[in-house]
Amino acid sequence: MEQQDCLFCKIVAGDIPSAKVYEDDVCIAFNDIAPQAPTHILVIPREHFRSLDEAAEKHKETLGHLLLTAAELARSMGFAEKGYRVVINTNDEGGQTVFHLHVHLLGGRQFIFPPG
Ligand code: AMP
Ligand code: ZN
Repeated sequence: MEQQDCLFCKIVAGDIPSAKVYEDDVCIAFNDIAPQAPTHILVIPREHFRSLDEAAEKHKETLGHLLLTAAELARSMGFAEKGYRVVINTNDEGGQTVFHLHVHLLGGRQFIFPPG
């Protein structure tokens, strides 16, 4: 169910444009507007839920689907073998700024750990 005033629900609905790289019944994937790596894609569920903190048993399949989609995109874009990073920022101290759950897929450069 679309949430009013949610930026990513508006992207799912097509009311705000995005550079889409993939979509299916469960999710859409599009380029991050402020990329932090040569490839920076957001994979988001069509269904609105705020964060991993709000994920429940009923979201299990969706969450698995988001991760498998990120992995498949990394393979199809050719950087899976070299390596990549998948991130789910959660709530304020986790660095979350858009409260519609999303998976960051970052690739194309060396990452360090821990991130800042
Ligand atoms: P987070 O900080 O984990 O909540 O990530 C939100 C991400 O959404 C940031 O990396 C932003 O650059 C990105 N973002 C914000 N607005 C847009 C937009 N209109 N299109 C694509 N990415 C966006
Ligand atoms: Zn939303």
